[in-house]
Amino acid sequence: MTDVTDRDGRAAGAVLGAAVGDALGAPYEFGPAGALSARFPAGRAELVAGGGWERGEATDDTQMAVLVAESLIERGELDLPDIFDRFCRWAAAEPKEIGIQTESVLASGHPWDLAAGIHFDSTLRAAGNGSLMRAATSAVAFARAGREATMDAARRIAALTHGDRAAWEGTAIFHELVRLALDGADPLAELPAVLAAVHPDHRERYATVLAPDWHPDRATEANGAVWPCLGSAVWALRTTDGFERAVHAAVDLGGDTDTVAAVAGGLAGARYGLAAIPPRWSEPLHVPLPGFGGRVLRARELLWIAERLAT
Ligand SMILES: [Mg+2]
Repeated sequence: MTDVTDRDGRAAGAVLGAAVGDALGAPYEFGPAGALSARFPAGRAELVAGGGWERGEATDDTQMAVLVAESLIERGELDLPDIFDRFCRWAAAEPKEIGIQTESVLASGHPWDLAAGIHFDSTLRAAGNGSLMRAATSAVAFARAGREATMDAARRIAALTHGDRAAWEGTAIFHELVRLALDGADPLAELPAVLAAVHPDHRERYATVLAPDWHPDRATEANGAVWPCLGSAVWALRTTDGFERAVHAAVDLGGDTDTVAAVAGGLAGARYGLAAIPPRWSEPLHVPLPGFGGRVLRARELLWIAERLAT
């Protein structure tokens, strides 16, 4: 009994943790390092408004994660054309924030199974963090299917908007780390085995940013790219001892703060569980869903989604 409850708490933690990380980081996006600590020198950070975001408002990261979740719940299976349709409907409703690459793929008019590849072939730039940022819900949904199946699902959902396999592999690693955490394992202790499941062409680059001695200062790209984004989120988990400190550290890195904190929050929520997420962060949280009837989800609805995905 205890194990079931703990697992459900960790699944809820992954979904809600990613969302509150997103909302905590949103006001500091593209800002300098240390901005969150400068605002809250005593360390007890609060969600605030800023950068065009209301206090507690979740950005595209969480909005797209909810779109994936609702497709999985309503379709009862991985229906890639349905997820793509929901993404397109959302993108057409002009959300406040949408990744440049995601927008050009979704607005291209190309079919779901070709759009990302056509974009990649024409730009050769598709290794942004835009598929990793939205993966908390699918990671919970596919965790029970085992390593191979959850990593495969991650790759296929990532490929809807990202033609670069680097983005698929980073999303697959995130899925697997969440699966391990939900099982009660220490995901960081399992990194060598996780890396062994990464496509050989991409293994070395992920081994670098996930190494125990890697620091975000050593990143060779901005953290809007998938490698340093994942590496920074894992670093935040590794170098802290609780949910709140992990997402605080992620936001304090600066740059793509909402996304790095969403990824860190998903991992930390899966590791530490729902009870570790401060109620003062989940209370003001809200997730607008442009294109879907003006709906705005609150923490309660996200917990319902997490429960449905986990069972
Ligand atoms: Mg965002």
